[in-house]
Amino acid sequence: MKKEKSQPSTSGSPGSSLAERQLKDAEVGTFVSMRLAQDQLPGKEELQSESELTKQLASHWSQFEVHDGLVYRRCQDTPKGEEDYMQLLLPRTDVQDVLSQCHGGVMGGHFEERKTMDQVRLRFYWNRWKEDVSRFCRQCRQCNWYHRENFGSKVYCNQSFPVLLSNVGTLTSPVPT
Ligand SMILES: [Zn+2]
Repeated sequence: MKKEKSQPSTSGSPGSSLAERQLKDAEVGTFVSMRLAQDQLPGKEELQSESELTKQLASHWSQFEVHDGLVYRRCQDTPKGEEDYMQLLLPRTDVQDVLSQCHGGVMGGHFEERKTMDQVRLRFYWNRWKEDVSRFCRQCRQCNWYHRENFGSKVYCNQSFPVLLSNVGTLTSPVPT
C-alpha cells in the first residue's frame, strides 16, 4: 500500500490510511466523498439534506482539488502574494497529532500561537482550526510550566522569547533624568 510521505506522520486509528480517515470523517467525510466522485458542483437538491459544514465547503467547491486520492484546498489569498499552497482537508482524528507536531514537534518548537497557526495554515485546513490552535497553545503544559518557572508569572506561549527579552532590555537601560 502506498504511504503518504509528504504529510507528517499521523497515528489516527491504526490500520486505516489517511485517505480512509478523510473519507470516514464525521465532519468532512460527506464533502470528501462528493468531491472524490465528481468535479462538478452538486446541485442544490443534492446538498439540501447535508450539514451546514458540507454546504459551506461545497460553496467553495472550486478551491478543492483531489491529489493522490486526498482532498486538498488550494489557498490563493496569500497575504504577501506568495505562491499558492495546498492545505490538506484534515480529518478530526488527526487534529491532535497535527497540533502537537505544528506547535512543539519536529521543528524543535513550542511556537507561540501565531507562529503555530502559520505552521498549520501552510499545510492543513479543518473546521474552526484557529480556535483549536489557540486552545492547544494556551493549554500546552510544557509551555505554561516553562514560562512560570522562568518568569514567576503565568505567561502563555503566545508571548515569544525575543519579545520578553527586549522588554527586559528596556527596563534595565538607564532611566533618563
Ligand atoms: Zn508548548
